[in-house]
Amino acid sequence: MKPEISLTFLGTSTSTGVPVIGCTCAICTSGDPLLIRTRSSIHLQIGDMSILVDSGPDLREQALREGLAKVDAVIYTHAHLDHITGFDELRAFCWHREDPLPLYGSPSCLGEIRRIFEWAFSPTNIYKGYIKPDPKEITGPVQLKKLTVTPIPVIHGSVETHGYRFDYPDIPSFAYIPDVKTIPKESAELLKNIPLLIIDCLHEREHPTHMSLKESLAASESLGAQKTYLTHISHELDVHNVSLPLNCSFAHDGLKLSIS
Ligand SMILES: [Zn+2]
Ligand SMILES: [Zn+2]
Ligand SMILES: [Zn+2]
Repeated sequence: MKPEISLTFLGTSTSTGVPVIGCTCAICTSGDPLLIRTRSSIHLQIGDMSILVDSGPDLREQALREGLAKVDAVIYTHAHLDHITGFDELRAFCWHREDPLPLYGSPSCLGEIRRIFEWAFSPTNIYKGYIKPDPKEITGPVQLKKLTVTPIPVIHGSVETHGYRFDYPDIPSFAYIPDVKTIPKESAELLKNIPLLIIDCLHEREHPTHMSLKESLAASESLGAQKTYLTHISHELDVHNVSLPLNCSFAHDGLKLSIS
């Protein structure tokens, strides 16, 4: 049987979520389910292997919505709070496994997670019911069964940030880069002609640490991505009134892609 990866957008918003607390703009008050966005994260299901990329503050709601009961590993892009503060919700996934839960990330990202959630990494974390993390530093490609996960260093303000490229035998490769302002030349080499690119697109005006719509589309084109989904979207972007190139689409919460 031909393998298939099911990719689910758990969340597609920037750090505030959409609607934004207290905002009365047309997007935030639209009630349109395609415009309601939780904090950015994706889930990958490959056979019986279940992988989360980031654990944001909306993880509980996202897992309940998608019926997500099992996670075998979490891969972190960076340690900004909108990508890590669902950490304690990972408890529920630890209850269904014998071994500690592998958490992959750059040494600095894992160091920051360890600093913020210090109790979880302490030798005194012995109580049943608590999260049991197994930090695994990523400094180059890692193998999760047949899936190769390659870190793609990108520029996103002052915090060390990875996108990831995913390669699996007989399945088109794809990359997930939710937070990025610029892609260094060596990283762009790792993304050349990628069949599926998922990339940061904050809104139309420029921002110091995230790509604007124009920058996201330029990156998609210069990398030669065959298909691009835009994510990490703010309430300023009216996706219903933007026309995109034919090979580009806006992601939305709950969107599922079958990659095969
Ligand atoms: Zn973010
Ligand atoms: Zn708003
Ligand atoms: Zn960030």
